[in-house]
This record gives sequence, structure tokens and C-alpha cells, in this order.
Amino acid sequence: MTDSILDNRTALKAEIDKVAEVAGYLWQKGWAERNGGNITVNITEYVDDGMQAIPAISDRRAIGKTLPHLKGQWFYCKGTQKRMRDLAREPMANGSIIRITPDCAHYEIVADAPVAPTSELPSHLAVHDWLLATGSPYRASLHTHPIELVALTHSRRWLEKDAATRMLWSMIPETKAFCPRGLGIVPYMLPSSVELAEATIKTLQSGYDVAMWEKHGVFAVDTDIMSAFDQVDVLNKAAQIYIASRNMGFEPDGMTEAQMRQLSEAFGLPK
Ligand SMILES: [Zn+2]
Repeated sequence: MTDSILDNRTALKAEIDKVAEVAGYLWQKGWAERNGGNITVNITEYVDDGMQAIPAISDRRAIGKTLPHLKGQWFYCKGTQKRMRDLAREPMANGSIIRITPDCAHYEIVADAPVAPTSELPSHLAVHDWLLATGSPYRASLHTHPIELVALTHSRRWLEKDAATRMLWSMIPETKAFCPRGLGIVPYMLPSSVELAEATIKTLQSGYDVAMWEKHGVFAVDTDIMSAFDQVDVLNKAAQIYIASRNMGFEPDGMTEAQMRQLSEAFGLPK
């Protein structure tokens, strides 16, 4: 075994192991074909003085924008062109750890191998910059292609504001309990574009934890990567129940408005 930056860093390793576990789930669920999907996690709280002193193994690379709240922050990110199913087995060969330089406009790799981060890095980092700016406890962002949720966005009916959210919440009580902020719809935009990144942040700003990109996939944020995955998993499960009912030949009734109000009160869910 060669040395790894994760050796003797139990808390950091546990966080990276969670990313690997989630990457495996994404592949098993059929949500991560080829190199599809992205994960970035803010790991700054797990970085010790010894790690701060490690020299970078890459040159300084431009992020493409200046993100003032990311000064000295550290991230684990999936590598560009890397597969989730490979990351599940070898997170440090298919992703890397980066630190943001003091000018807040560059990063350098401090990891086991100089794996270049995802091409989506600027948009993911812009989300993390906004999370820190607002004092959010959220540290993880996830982009993936959940089959049934994406299928819903191929109908105008489910692109109306909160139409999909209300339907998904009404399929099974846990959906609202565990995804109380619902699903924010982002109209189709070119993948990797600045417009898509900006529209995603706007959707998160308006109170959603999960943004649904029309005919593409979801972008979710939460305290850690496991919780971000859970939100998408719960929403997609509800979509599967809806589809199962339709496959049995009927439109599901769904829980009533009164039942959902009662649930919100009993669980103290956000409005
Ligand atoms: Zn995608």
C-alpha cells in the first residue's frame, strides 16, 4: 500500500468513504451512466495543520471566477471524465482534494494523485460560496440523473411551479417529512453553462434543497453527501410509486391536502 493523504485522518477518511458509498448507490440505481453526475464536498473542517503544510501536487489553476467566501477552503471533488462506479472503489484515484488559494480565484491539488476536478467545478464552487455566505450548515452538493424524476420533466404538467412537489409529497408521508422544501424546477438550459449554474443557485436561494433540471437531472445540497443523496432517493421513490400506479392503469389519488397539513403540523415541517 502506498501512502495516502487519508492515512491517520479518520474523520476525513470517513467523509471520503461516504462519497464512495454514495457513488456506488448512484451506479447501482442506474443514475450514473458513463461519467455522468458530480459530487463536491466542503471538507475544510477535517483538514488539520499537517495537511495545511503539505505542498500542492499541481500548479495553481484558475477557477474562472472569484468566490470571496472560499478563501482557504478545501474540497473533495469527483475527477473530470471519471466514473461514479470507479470512484466507489477508489475515491482518491477518481477524485481529488483541492484547496482554494488566498486570492479566491485559483485552486491547487493536494491529494494522492493529480486528478483534475470535474469540469463542473466552477458551478459547484459557486454554490458552496453562496452556502458559506449565507451561514448554511450545508457542505455537500450532488448532481445525478434519477430516471423517474427526469422522466417527469418530459411533461409540461410537471414543470408548473410546485406541481411535481405536491404530487410527490402526496404519494407517501415520508416524502414531505424528509424533503420538506420540495423540488424546484429549472427550465432546460445547456449543460455546464453559466446560465444553468446561475438558475440553480437562484432556485436554491428561493428555498429548495433540490433543483430539478428539465430533461437532465437533479442538483441537491445538504449537510453531507449521504443526506443529499437521501433527499433525491426519497423524491425518486415517490415518482416510482406514481408511475407504478399509472402502470396499474389508474391515476393515484394521493394523500389529501388535509392529510399533508396534519403531517406538517405533527412533524413541525418548514412552511
Ligand atoms: Zn448531468
